[in-house]
Amino acid sequence: RRAAFAALRDLPPETRDGHRVTLMVNAGLRDDVAALDLTGADGIGLFRTEFQFLVSATLPQRERQQRLYREVLEQAGERPVVFRTIDIGGDKALPYLNVEAGTEENPAMGWRALRLALERDGLMKAQARALLEAAAGRTLNVMFPMVSEPWEFSEAKALFEAQRVFLAGRGKRLPTEIRYGAMLEVPALAEQLDLLLPEVQFLSVGTNDLTQFLFAADRANPKLAERYDWLSAAILRFLRRVVQAARPAGVPVAVCGEMGGRPLEAMALIGLGIDRLSITPAAVGPVKAMIRSLDRAELGTFVTGLLARPPRDMRAVLTEWAVAHGV
Ligand code: PEP
Ligand code: MG
Repeated sequence: RRAAFAALRDLPPETRDGHRVTLMVNAGLRDDVAALDLTGADGIGLFRTEFQFLVSATLPQRERQQRLYREVLEQAGERPVVFRTIDIGGDKALPYLNVEAGTEENPAMGWRALRLALERDGLMKAQARALLEAAAGRTLNVMFPMVSEPWEFSEAKALFEAQRVFLAGRGKRLPTEIRYGAMLEVPALAEQLDLLLPEVQFLSVGTNDLTQFLFAADRANPKLAERYDWLSAAILRFLRRVVQAARPAGVPVAVCGEMGGRPLEAMALIGLGIDRLSITPAAVGPVKAMIRSLDRAELGTFVTGLLARPPRDMRAVLTEWAVAHGV
């Protein structure tokens, strides 16, 4: 099977009825970028910039950040890279940051990611400059984690724009275009999508966090694994609403959580109208094989019916459909 997946590398992730899916990989370290060539992926849909901070004994200075981002962009070439600003705090503690780590009762819902970054903004200013300079002469795609309310996105974007103006004033070469996106992983944001959509160029759904918040079920607790099923009516209906809200606004919606790396889950996502996935590199072969065996129109009709009258065991019904349709 591995050889069969390797043979797929240069074939497009396109359904039998001619629908092209954008299949990207998740990455976080310099060496992960090799996955682009190995898998034939369309780009990096989630570059977790906090990894560089987590593996370092001291705070990575701006020059070091910039070097990493430049190397990643150079190796990616024409393929897009979406940089996520640091998602630290909570359980991803940094000893050198002097942030009171390990003291929160619910770190996943704690002072992390954008919440921390907007308050300790020196960190994000340095990162913004590193990203802006690294992407000189090309498109910079940047997205913010754990956005809960539209104003948080606006503030983060304004911080980047201020750094852009600062660098321009110093005669620095800048990106030709900056595309700003928000991660959708806090359910509250979905209730204000109409306000957010005019401000963003793209959305990326973080289904790992989104699921734990929707179900109030810790993603790291094995006792709750059964309550954390991505193939549940609540998740799929939620995502469907997001897709339907974003479409008229012309905002593309990607999924970058682990959910998209499982073929059956990815099939359900495509069935509800998502056509951009960013997944773990090892999943590219299996997910591409699934996509190439699909009739998307047929699948779409089936999933729409399923969501109208959800069966208790969504997974079983989707599996049955996949088998019956040679997926
Ligand atoms: C997610 O929450 O789904 C996600 C992609 O981000 P992380 O797993 O890094 O929290
Ligand atoms: Mg997340």
